[in-house]
Amino acid sequence: MPMKLTIVGCGDAFGSGGRLQTGYHIDLGDHRFLIDCGATSIIGLNRCGIDPNGISTIFISHLHGDHFAGLVWWLLHAQHVAKRPNPLVVVGPPGIEARAMTAAETLFPGSTKVPRRYELKFIECHAGTPLTVGPVTVTAWEVSHPSGAPSHALRFEAGGKILAFSGDTEWVEALVPVSSGADLFIAECYAFDGPVKFHTSWEILERNLPRITAKHVMLTHMNNAMLARRHEISRPNILLAEDGLVVDV
Ligand SMILES: [Zn+2]
Ligand SMILES: [Zn+2]
Repeated sequence: MPMKLTIVGCGDAFGSGGRLQTGYHIDLGDHRFLIDCGATSIIGLNRCGIDPNGISTIFISHLHGDHFAGLVWWLLHAQHVAKRPNPLVVVGPPGIEARAMTAAETLFPGSTKVPRRYELKFIECHAGTPLTVGPVTVTAWEVSHPSGAPSHALRFEAGGKILAFSGDTEWVEALVPVSSGADLFIAECYAFDGPVKFHTSWEILERNLPRITAKHVMLTHMNNAMLARRHEISRPNILLAEDGLVVDV
């Protein structure tokens, strides 16, 4: 079975366009995982009719709230609502466990002290060292986006498909190898033009497209100005992210 991608959320940190924060659900048929878990991810999964208990692994690109804070609500939901019976693995940059637990304790004091009804395991992912979790191999590249820990672009290989994700970053050369030959490259495109510190604009991404060998590039994490002009972009290999969109990778 190919990878089936459901966009749980593709917004920026600020709710631009009413979009939810970052979360991509990948269904391999017999295995499901989530890429990033922004603060609104449980809302998004509910909207999409996706059962969090069906997800085995959550991969986190970087430790900003719109990409990992959803873990706080995920853990509460798993404990008290979904009554999760199965183990959960969370893969992310160095320090992810401490950052997630600090966030959970800040927002719901005592929540991390309750005996967990399921096994929760954090695995740190280091740039340049491929990591295999179940049927998924992920490789991280460090990008330019300060988050209190290394921020990563991620390349996923599973079920004979390759999915690449830029995470949040300004243009860096790492985006060429991370997306090399990928079936789909999900690329942050925060702004329409101009340089933006620690984010990418369409103007800069377009300039670098000749070196991107992914079959399709999907623009995501757009601010209001980019959202307003996104339909000016008409190239057959460029897709525009939309909450709730389902794509066969
Ligand atoms: Zn972000
Ligand atoms: Zn960020």
